[in-house]
Amino acid sequence: MATGQQTLQQTAQSSHMSAGNSASSGQAPIELDRLTHDYGSRLALDGLSFDVRPAQIFGLLGPNGSGKTTLFRILSTLMVPTSGHARIAGFDVAKEPNRVRQQTGIVFQASSLDVKLTVAENLMHQGHLYGLRGPQLQARAKEVLARVGLTNRAKDMVETLSGGQKRRVELAKGLIHSPSVLLLDEPSTGLDPGARIDLWNYLRILRDDQGVTVLVTTHLMEEAEHCDRLAILSAGKLVALGSPAELKAEIGGDVVQFETCGPEAAAALGARIAERFAVAPSVVGNAVRVEREHGHRFLTEVVEAFPGAIESVSVSKPSLEDVFIQRTGHRFWLEKNEEKS
Ligand code: ADP
Repeated sequence: MATGQQTLQQTAQSSHMSAGNSASSGQAPIELDRLTHDYGSRLALDGLSFDVRPAQIFGLLGPNGSGKTTLFRILSTLMVPTSGHARIAGFDVAKEPNRVRQQTGIVFQASSLDVKLTVAENLMHQGHLYGLRGPQLQARAKEVLARVGLTNRAKDMVETLSGGQKRRVELAKGLIHSPSVLLLDEPSTGLDPGARIDLWNYLRILRDDQGVTVLVTTHLMEEAEHCDRLAILSAGKLVALGSPAELKAEIGGDVVQFETCGPEAAAALGARIAERFAVAPSVVGNAVRVEREHGHRFLTEVVEAFPGAIESVSVSKPSLEDVFIQRTGHRFWLEKNEEKS
């Protein structure tokens, strides 16, 4: 397979479109239509269909092995799907990869920076890959550096920057050709909390000021909470689609959890709670979970009804983890003894 760098070199005849200008009105910036990919006998993406809306930060949330990297590589035109379609700004990623690359900025998880070159030199090289030259490239490099707040570091070697600053240079590289869509693979990995906050602020500015559509892959719930809209993946399938608030609101009320001494005790307690209170609990590992209005009241009733069967209790507002459990029947991070075959 070609490396990202080699593949991007094929895009040299760039058309330097500005953000959002190729997508005709009403055109979703990213569209998946029954997108499927298998690696031989292993199905990594299982018929995904959804759209990403313009000028939104869209999150692709899933645990390890859910298919995020596979989808990211297909959208980045580094891999062709087995069947179905993915389109960026209306261009099919498999059939029109060069048009897609003109529209797309990509920030991979692994660093693509040459640390022995200056920040500005890194940007110049990236611009050349996209056919930018001379004063136009100089002006563009200046603009993107200002946008990521690194104007005063342009002449510094990349190796002298902090982790957060390096990630901002990656972002500037991804933006050099004015893409309408920016794809970021696990962008917070390796960043300290302050640098994460900065990164998300930049993504919001891109969205709000430039109308760029941003797609972020993540396995972090707290990062997914920052997204305007989310697709939650599990084992290559789409299990939930919506804004974090919408998805959590679907659960409604509180999440009440009763921890027991083991999975068998949890199953038994779940059955007793279901019978007694006419609810539909889910049993996850050692715990029984119930979604319910007025969780505190319910919790007290259950503890009084089954003394000795419960080790600990909790009541909380629904989280994205709860959405995942509700949709899949298992935790986001499987315990060792719960791992699916
Ligand atoms: P994620 O990025 O969410 O961790 P991946 O897209 O890497 O998920 O993986 C999805 C599934 O495809 C997993 O079951 C993984 O083992 C499998 N997979 C990924 N890459 C390959 C490969 N090169 N060959 C075979 N199976 C793969």
